[in-house]
Amino acid sequence: MIDEITNLEQIARQLEPSAEERENMLGKVTAYAEDFLSKIYELPAYRKSDDNGSGIYDFPLKDEPVDIETLIDSMKEHVDLPGINPASGGHLGYIPGGGIFHSALGDYLADIMNKYAGVFFAGPGTVRLQNMLIRWMNDLVGYPGSAAGNLTSGGSISNLIGIVTGRDAIGLKAKDYENSVIYVTEQAHHSVNKSVRIAGLNECIIRKIPMDDAFRMDFSALETAVESDKHGRLRPWLVVSSAGTTDTGSVDPLGAIGDLCSANEMWHHVDGAYGAFFLLSDIAKDKLAGIGKSDSVVMDPHKGLFLPYGTGAVLVHDKEKMYNSHYYFANYMQDANNDQQELSPADLSPELSTHFRSLRLWFPLMLCGLKPFKAALDEKILLTRYFHEKIREVDGFEVGPYPELSVSTFRYVPERGDANEFNARIIEEIHNDGRVFISSTMIDGKFTLRLAVLHFRTHKDTVDLTIEALKEAVVKIKAAF
Ligand SMILES: *Cc1c(COP(=O)(O)O)cnc(C)c1O
Repeated sequence: MIDEITNLEQIARQLEPSAEERENMLGKVTAYAEDFLSKIYELPAYRKSDDNGSGIYDFPLKDEPVDIETLIDSMKEHVDLPGINPASGGHLGYIPGGGIFHSALGDYLADIMNKYAGVFFAGPGTVRLQNMLIRWMNDLVGYPGSAAGNLTSGGSISNLIGIVTGRDAIGLKAKDYENSVIYVTEQAHHSVNKSVRIAGLNECIIRKIPMDDAFRMDFSALETAVESDKHGRLRPWLVVSSAGTTDTGSVDPLGAIGDLCSANEMWHHVDGAYGAFFLLSDIAKDKLAGIGKSDSVVMDPHKGLFLPYGTGAVLVHDKEKMYNSHYYFANYMQDANNDQQELSPADLSPELSTHFRSLRLWFPLMLCGLKPFKAALDEKILLTRYFHEKIREVDGFEVGPYPELSVSTFRYVPERGDANEFNARIIEEIHNDGRVFISSTMIDGKFTLRLAVLHFRTHKDTVDLTIEALKEAVVKIKAAF
């Protein structure tokens, strides 16, 4: 047996590269990153490919190792190149992410140290750091010191945590569901509907409240619906509002909804995955007034703070409520439960072991300071207004409501022929061209183009380029339309 152990050890030790091997691999990885970053302002925002990355199947796992050059080459060809380039400032579709460099440094160290981020006993510093970042966000939102929160993988899980906390805090039981009412608008993000379903709440009555002409929840319609449901012996319990809808960047009347919910013992959950970090923007923060009157808020650092994907946040006004829905005690965790100077993330989330997310958030905020984040968010707001005003002037284009945050909607109206088809062709042209990437949506049956400005690499020249690319696309399509 000793021989066998020795033999296995020899092979297992290949999992630990030598200093020289580490230097070699790290050199190759940083060389790739540097090459990527040195070209990032020229690289396309979108690349169509014939095989859509299917060449990766030619690199199956084997018992024997592959060298780092081969690995990086195949990654580049089949993974990096095809599809959207979310690191490009030309990414103006959906809601752009970021990929700020300083986060990668935090991630590198987080992975090397592999500190445990779920439980205070195991990583008191990691938990304090995370809770400190959450406290900063709670302050931004205007929540009191008794609030709590968690860093999550993104807005979807954050919405789930907020809604589940609300369900339990309101004391809803399965037998109540079919008489209990949830209020949303047609423009709520689909992850809200998904969360409602996963939380087992699909049997609730789900009312879609009408919107005003800027796609914000019509408050008086909400008030009327809640009153009439109460008279109908139903139980209104949850309003999910949007602090920045995905389609149009619209913000529901958060303060009024908060007051209505308090007065009626309802839960107000705010989906600010896209928009809530505009609280850092002096130009835009008034749009979010009243957000602090809510019970829970979602905000995504991988959107509004330009972080790489995989970083969301959820905040709950009353920490007891968040804890009551998510804590658990297990015998094998007994050592961890004696020492609770800070709430543990594992008691505030379905997750136990997680990526140590705080470092990727803390590094950029500390290394850059808050000032450039605030400036970038202000810049995004103004760039969107600039675009909106410019494209409105271009012959044939019509625009949607004036942008509240950093999404502008618009479409081309051809002199003859089907406008929806024409705009679908514009999207196709822009994607084939690839210098910038925009996406489309259907609003009231109209094929609508949208520009979402949220990348830290998007500047005025990107917006000017987008207007040029749109004009060129129209000329090209018109010739054959
Ligand atoms: C992006 C987004 C979500 C989902 O967030 P993920 O981080 O992608 O899971 C939810 N709501 C809104 C308004 C969003 O923009």
